[in-house]
Amino acid sequence: AAKEAGRNTFRFFTGQQGGQAAEQLLIRNGLHNALLRNEFILHYQPQLDLTTGRIVGAEALVRWLHPEQGMVPPGKFIPVAEESGLIVPIGEWVLHEACRQLAQWREEGLGDLVVAVNLSGVEFKRGYLVESVTHTLARTGLPATCLELELTESMLMHDVENVISTLQRLKALGVRLSIDDFGTGYSCLSYLTRFDVDTLKIDQSFVRQLHLGDQHAAIIRAVIQMAHSLDLATIAEGVEDAEVVAFLRAHACDQAQGYFFSKPLPAEDFARFVRQYRAVL
Ligand code: C2E
Ligand code: MG
Ligand code: MG
Ligand code: MG
Repeated sequence: AAKEAGRNTFRFFTGQQGGQAAEQLLIRNGLHNALLRNEFILHYQPQLDLTTGRIVGAEALVRWLHPEQGMVPPGKFIPVAEESGLIVPIGEWVLHEACRQLAQWREEGLGDLVVAVNLSGVEFKRGYLVESVTHTLARTGLPATCLELELTESMLMHDVENVISTLQRLKALGVRLSIDDFGTGYSCLSYLTRFDVDTLKIDQSFVRQLHLGDQHAAIIRAVIQMAHSLDLATIAEGVEDAEVVAFLRAHACDQAQGYFFSKPLPAEDFARFVRQYRAVL
């Protein structure tokens, strides 16, 4: 009956907007079962130290392998999951799977890597994030220093006292904190002195369009300088070519990730990539 209703609903929509609404509905209905059916997987994108050229970590990025639609990118289902609250169990799965995988890789001798996990604002606000992280580290045996949590500026803007306390408790565990998509959040920079974060991830909108003119270059240089004077590290996202790598190295950006080095890879491919990797810098 549910299937029947789904089909009728699908037919109900027409045109471009209807198509999108129908797709959203398919996504919302499917998400409920996706966790039970193990339809999520993580891809891992290498992060490189720009001084040594070594791989120092990976960002874990979730994908949904939908039985009929194929691979659904996070941009399509994370917003829906946030709206419905399903982002909480999905986020817990992501955290656990990323920690479990890295602990296994460490046991296999893949190296001393850090895994970065994206958090959504919903997970951050809900109250037991610190307990969840503590529990996951204990269960997987991953050292806290091998886990980095990616936050966004918008998460830090409201309820500042609570945010400060949450970040302090996370730091006390030993996990690292970074600000994702830095430079796109319109937030007041003074928050950087109030929150104990480790790394700014320079948003790919600046990095990818570097060749479009020197304004992006100016922003990137300024972010790196500011970060360093606040004792923060920087990582550039969306690095797609050698010129950008050269620019980032010339301006002492600490790390980089992007298609120039590798796309996000399934776990096995990532492990193979790390084993076969020879520093390119
Ligand atoms: P993000 O955290 O800023 O991740 C970077 C995105 O840029 C990823 O897209 C990655 O595949 C893509 N990317 C990396 N290097 C390059 C490059 O050189 N060129 C281009 N064109 N793109 C590059 P993806 O995997 O589709 O993820 C999109 C967004 O979805 C992420 O942005 C993040 O905000 C969110 N997301 C992904 N996984 C999770 C998750 O497990 N939990 C939560 N809450 N959000 C997630
Ligand atoms: Mg991220
Ligand atoms: Mg980002
Ligand atoms: Mg993001």
